[in-house]
Amino acid sequence: MESDNLDLVMKNRTLAEISARDSLTGLYNRWYVMEKIDSEMNRSLRHGCPVSVLMLDIDHFKRVNDAFGHAAGDGVLRAVAQVLRDSCRVYDVPGRYGGEEFCVVLPETKTGNTTVVAERIRERMESSSFNVGGDSVVVTASIGIAGIDSMEGEGIVSPSILIDRADRALYSAKHRGRNRVELWDVAMQGAAMAH
Ligand code: GH3
Ligand code: MG
Ligand code: MG
Repeated sequence: MESDNLDLVMKNRTLAEISARDSLTGLYNRWYVMEKIDSEMNRSLRHGCPVSVLMLDIDHFKRVNDAFGHAAGDGVLRAVAQVLRDSCRVYDVPGRYGGEEFCVVLPETKTGNTTVVAERIRERMESSSFNVGGDSVVVTASIGIAGIDSMEGEGIVSPSILIDRADRALYSAKHRGRNRVELWDVAMQGAAMAH
């Protein structure tokens, strides 16, 4: 009986871990990332510590699929995931937000320090050549950052508002030529985001 219970506990743990992961890259999935942003924002509210979110989208990824095939594209997504893992600190949470879009939650990190991490990721991507199915592929990425440095004057910002801000910054990075990092600014708020 005891060992049956233990078995069940272990199985549940494995299930919880699987449902938190993206099957292609092994990174956390969108669902888990949203949960993490929510809990970190609550912590930020309680303790006044900062939190940042980084949103990354691969530049012209459609061209990779078109030139090398979908399977090679999948290989590039796995390689990008590895760059993210290698570039993050232990408490950071890298995830696949969907398609060729990735996200990193950085607890207790001011946006200024997030810019440093983002720039490191951007540089590593640009200077890496991924070997997928015998082909050598180089991709760049555009990155948007939004965060809460302190709660004062921020009002209540929800996880979806924070993601929307990071998304707007990402859109601005695309608009300004891609392969670059942009920090959310209030001036980005009114802009339309149609691609
Ligand atoms: P941009 O620089 O504006 O981001 O251009 P883009 O080509 O990256 O953007 P777009 O959104 O037009 O294309 C994204 C592409 O990503 C199209 C889609 O087929 C591909 N994609 C999304 N998910 C996957 C996946 O899981 N595997 C592969 N191989 N491709 C994917
Ligand atoms: Mg995209
Ligand atoms: Mg893209």
